[in-house]
Amino acid sequence: MQNTTICALATPPGPGGIAVVRVSGPDAYTVAARVFRPADATRRLEKAKGYTALFGHFFRAGQPCDETVALCFRAPKSYTGEDVVELSCHGGPAVVEQLLAACREAGAAPAGAGEFTRRAFLNGRIGLTQAEAVMGLVSAAGRQGAALSAAALGGALAREIAGLEAKLTALLGHLDAWVDFPEEDVPELAPEAFCACISEAAALLEKLLREYGAGAVLRRGVDTAIVGRPNVGKSTLLNLLAGFERAIVTPLPGTTRDVVEQAVSLGESGIRLNLADTAGLRETGDLIEAEGIRRGRAKLEQAGLVLAVFDASRPAGEEDVALARACEGRCALALLNKSDLPAQFDEKSIAPYFAGQKDGLNRRGGHILHISANDPADRARLAGAIEALLGTASLDPCAAALVSERQHAAALAAKSHLDAALAACREGYGLDAAGVCLEDALNALYELTGESAGEAAIEEVFSQFCVGK
Ligand code: GDP
Repeated sequence: MQNTTICALATPPGPGGIAVVRVSGPDAYTVAARVFRPADATRRLEKAKGYTALFGHFFRAGQPCDETVALCFRAPKSYTGEDVVELSCHGGPAVVEQLLAACREAGAAPAGAGEFTRRAFLNGRIGLTQAEAVMGLVSAAGRQGAALSAAALGGALAREIAGLEAKLTALLGHLDAWVDFPEEDVPELAPEAFCACISEAAALLEKLLREYGAGAVLRRGVDTAIVGRPNVGKSTLLNLLAGFERAIVTPLPGTTRDVVEQAVSLGESGIRLNLADTAGLRETGDLIEAEGIRRGRAKLEQAGLVLAVFDASRPAGEEDVALARACEGRCALALLNKSDLPAQFDEKSIAPYFAGQKDGLNRRGGHILHISANDPADRARLAGAIEALLGTASLDPCAAALVSERQHAAALAAKSHLDAALAACREGYGLDAAGVCLEDALNALYELTGESAGEAAIEEVFSQFCVGK
């Protein structure tokens, strides 16, 4: 238990229907009772049971300020595990400022970033992976991203890793007993059984690591560059994906002179693409257009997904091949546009650059898709191809998933220690050498779940939160 009582706005700043100020700590009820008076004078906030609500007003310097509902939680049955009172008033910034000031004058300290969730963690209400999930849920842009974080908050990852830890701990226990007490009746540990158990654990970690990229796409969206020569249909494509006329479309080359940006939600999984339609890539003497082209190239380099558009009704030119080459090895989709017109484009000239390749644990692929950006029916086909390329279509949003860089790094470390244990076994170094690697793997898993995470790692998790969460 922390000994201070803290307060902060838990809803977003700015005008809104209501705003919620959360007060948490040992003196939450004393503080709230100094600020809030129930409309029914026979009721007392200090006496309110958990999970009850009282209607009344909040006061500052003896003056009533606004109608307020006080929602009461009693320790340990609250978000933080402490006594909590949530005061809801009208969501005007001036009202909120008064309420926060009143709470501070009544003895509450302003909460630091993520302090409510940090307290929930320190009081054992949630584990570190769940704390990270809270952040994912708060910042999730798309439906499935939110579902992923909700699964983590429900403890899906924590349970999966705990199961892994239990298996590896049992294996290590058996190994230690067998190595240290050979005279006892410890059943022999066959290297095959040892390796099978470790391989299974390594495979599970590999799956989590492989899906991490797709999960990150669902949680945060992906920066997507639409690139291609002038007049191939980039702006028409942006409008098709946006579902409205976002960009100006004309038959004149060079119409889009700057980067036009638009976020769209796409496909079954509701993934968010942060689209950037760029100026057509071509040689130009026009200074403004040239600057647009430079920005377009920069977008292409930074993008997590490239939609390279080609005009299928014209023969492939040198610029097309140069663009295709720039897409090699990238997460890129070639779109042969204007498929409603007679085909002239030789697909073979660009195909090798969109063949896809394996990048670490993630298979990054490329594809070629024939579309007509003018045809609304092609939106769904395009969405399906993008989901397949990003690996989001096959992701089960309810399954365990890694939701932060920190978790990813710990899982990667655990996996490499398990691989080392397998190699030690295979190369005949004996099970005790493998046991050392196994111990390292377990330590990495404890780090992942927060069971042995250092102060710095915990600091890092909570530093990314906003105040009020
Ligand atoms: P951008 O310069 O690459 O952004 O190209 P635009 O989107 O401005 O399109 C250039 C021209 O091609 C416009 O006249 C569009 O109407 C036309 N266009 C775009 N997509 C298609 C398509 O799928 N089929 C046909 N026939 N015309 C298209």
